[in-house]
Amino acid sequence: MRYEGRIYRPPSEAGSYILQATIGCSWNHCTYCDMYRDKQFRVRDLGETLQDIRAAAMAGAGQVDKVFVADGDALVMDMERWQSILSACREAFPRLRRVSCYATAMNVNQKSDDELRMLREWGLSLLYIGPESGDDVTLKRIAKGGSFDQHVEAASRAHAAQMRLSAIFLLGAGGVERSAEHAQASARLASAMSPRFLSVLTLTVVPGTPLSRQEDAGRFQLPDTRGLLQELRTFVDEAKPEDSVFRTNHASNYLPLEGRLPRDRARIVQVLDAALAGQIPLRPEWMRGL
Ligand code: SF4
Repeated sequence: MRYEGRIYRPPSEAGSYILQATIGCSWNHCTYCDMYRDKQFRVRDLGETLQDIRAAAMAGAGQVDKVFVADGDALVMDMERWQSILSACREAFPRLRRVSCYATAMNVNQKSDDELRMLREWGLSLLYIGPESGDDVTLKRIAKGGSFDQHVEAASRAHAAQMRLSAIFLLGAGGVERSAEHAQASARLASAMSPRFLSVLTLTVVPGTPLSRQEDAGRFQLPDTRGLLQELRTFVDEAKPEDSVFRTNHASNYLPLEGRLPRDRARIVQVLDAALAGQIPLRPEWMRGL
């Protein structure tokens, strides 16, 4: 398998075959993100991508039941390319039950309803979308590219195409200044998107990013640990998706939580209250990761 640069994937794709069909992120503007800053976005040569699928099949086709198509917003690829890739995956991996990729709201909204339906029919069944926040002021400041309404539109169109969604929100994205608005509006957006999977990560300001320069200039301040936990409490308390598997098991978080929302809301809020009261140990800084 040939991979270019560092490869990122959601924690739940740990056992998946990672197919790098694009290099980098076609957007690449989010102020906090340093994942693909060193990569000039391009769609990889289709012949090479198909060769990789064949090589993975030779190496152990019987083992592969999930494929994650990398890098940062692979949904941006055109339909012909997706058709070739998805058809090659179906042929190469007899046990295949899921193909997924990262997507932005813009990627989804640039596809027509028919195109989304066709992608689903060909096998693309799960999209990971990271609005990070539901607060339009925060979304503008972090240069996410999509607004609250655009994320709702993307989610509703993906649902209509029978695709599953995994939505990711980012504690701290609004800074101290927009902390409460960020948490409340994120809960509203999670409710409106109603994804099958709902994850919360914690922002780390990475040196070299635009956000880090804003922090150095005194224009951004990350809430302290208590402020971040309070954001999480607000989010859990106010989010009302239809039925989402909720996780904060990403290494960036201070408190790994798991459950379903809204079903387990009261239990999770209780745990968060105990953590805020200092009764539950938090993950120490040295154990946290990006
Ligand atoms: S869309 Fe995702 S990968 Fe691209 S810059 Fe934003 S956070 Fe990074």
